[in-house]
Amino acid sequence: PPSGEKYEYQAEVSRLMDLIVNSLYSNKEVFLRELISNASDALDKLRYLSVTEPQLLKDAVDLDIRIQTDKDNGIISITDSGIGMTRQDLVDCLGTIAQSGTAKFLKAMKESKDAGTDNNLIGQFGVGFYSAFLVADKVVVSTKSPKSDKQYVWEGEANASSYTIREETDPENLIPRGTRLTLYLKEKGITKEVEVDEDPVEAKEDAPDGNTEKKKKTKKIVERYWDWVLANETQPIWLRNPKEVTTEEYNEFYKKTFNEYADPLASSHFTTEGEVEFRSILYVPAVSPMGKDDIVNSKTKNIRLYVKRVFISDDFDGELFPRYLSFVKGVVDSNDLPLNVSREILQESRIVRIMRKRLVRKAFDMILGISMSENRGDYETFWENFGKHLKLGCIEDRENHKRLAPLLRFFSSQSEDEMISLDEYVENMKAEQKDIYYIAADSVTSARNAPFLERLLQKDLEVLYLVDPIDEIAIQNLKSYKEKNFVDISKEDLDLGDKNEEKEKVMKEEFGQTCDWIKKHLGDKVASVQISNRLSSSPCVLVSGKFGWSANMERLMKAQAV
Ligand code: ADP
Ligand code: MG
Repeated sequence: PPSGEKYEYQAEVSRLMDLIVNSLYSNKEVFLRELISNASDALDKLRYLSVTEPQLLKDAVDLDIRIQTDKDNGIISITDSGIGMTRQDLVDCLGTIAQSGTAKFLKAMKESKDAGTDNNLIGQFGVGFYSAFLVADKVVVSTKSPKSDKQYVWEGEANASSYTIREETDPENLIPRGTRLTLYLKEKGITKEVEVDEDPVEAKEDAPDGNTEKKKKTKKIVERYWDWVLANETQPIWLRNPKEVTTEEYNEFYKKTFNEYADPLASSHFTTEGEVEFRSILYVPAVSPMGKDDIVNSKTKNIRLYVKRVFISDDFDGELFPRYLSFVKGVVDSNDLPLNVSREILQESRIVRIMRKRLVRKAFDMILGISMSENRGDYETFWENFGKHLKLGCIEDRENHKRLAPLLRFFSSQSEDEMISLDEYVENMKAEQKDIYYIAADSVTSARNAPFLERLLQKDLEVLYLVDPIDEIAIQNLKSYKEKNFVDISKEDLDLGDKNEEKEKVMKEEFGQTCDWIKKHLGDKVASVQISNRLSSSPCVLVSGKFGWSANMERLMKAQAV
């Protein structure tokens, strides 16, 4: 083997390599993510520099990454036509740890070892280039920087404290620019374990016939050919200009990415700029994945996070969307997060907090868009599937009450077949009406038959029917809408603004004794018996105390206690 100059690794690198080789077994496949992202970074760097120095591209205009697998020999090579490395770069980049993420990894690794916990740290952190040693016992990096006229070869082995660098001399290996990583795998079978998108195509050919003499000696010559297969679309759909993407393309992407058979109900493609930059496409599904009565599941794998086009994770639990919006699907691509972003980083990151805020806002805009669609059926579908989620939002997300409230829908005394919005209710309010009236019941029919309703109907006041168990709690959390309070018409102090004190006095004198008599007979079953002005045809009604639970709430509590 051609001898090269020998270099010792920096102490941290030695430690890291030791960890990788001897104690990290899970998530081996992350090496591919790390190496492809390095190759992709190398293309990005070159692309960026070539803006001001176009001559850097002169030898090879294409910016691509090629992955070749040789199953028989247990070799994977990853070749990029990116920025490459000079001899000094090789020493600086592949012999020392300049990167803080890796240092953090080492620290976390030590802590988890001390705690004796089984770790999955590599999956969370990634260890960059060195993750190659998860699967390879020898790594050869042949690289040519456009700034140097020589190509260099870095060669390192697992379990070694040093590596070598030499000049590339084999003409077969010369590349115009970029880097070729060759991994000599520990287990030959590993090429099956990792999913490499390119398939080598092999063709066997016998040697052409010679004369009989020679024929006896003819060896079978096996030639192998590799074909390149494009493994990804040249540009992810979210990087394209929204004006140039058709609805069909958005829908196709949605179905392919999320394994859906139905088109989404709505989509939103946007870029945010300023403090944090990211691109995203969000979708509202047209069908509910779970039964309507299922508990809201926050771990849905509905949001796919990319950093600089490299897929990072779809395993979120509230970091990017609150629980009640977990039905929203989509992709988010940020340039501002590190590639090795972990759950811990996600939870603490200020960038993620800002992203979350913007994503939530966009999701609301998208839902509002559905509600304003000419086709009223669209929002009915949405409400049918995800109305409960928004009501849960009223309880869990005070900050977004203003966005949630206009999206709510209820039946009412004047609209028993079609749900109305709070805006529609407010528009329909009487000139002197100050409050929004509601009654909670277990169905539209029982709401309609409640005696509390009589006087309000007589006065032609509209009353919302809260017939879903969660409705009442949601409304109580909202408290008001457009400065109008929600008022439960079943509570004892209902004031319709038509008190007639003179008449009340007369009534009290006439029926006071009757009330006392009834109270005496009912005893503890009621708190008090009073003369009321809220009925028109029913003789009496049972109401809840001002500070007590409504009858509906009481039903709910009972149901939960079972
Ligand atoms: P990171 O990518 O986070 O910097 P890595 O350990 O993955 O850490 O890589 C270390 C460094 O090695 C990179 O920052 C880069 O300078 C260099 N490098 C790795 N792979 C390549 C490549 N394919 N082309 C050019 N430089 C590379
Ligand atoms: Mg890297």
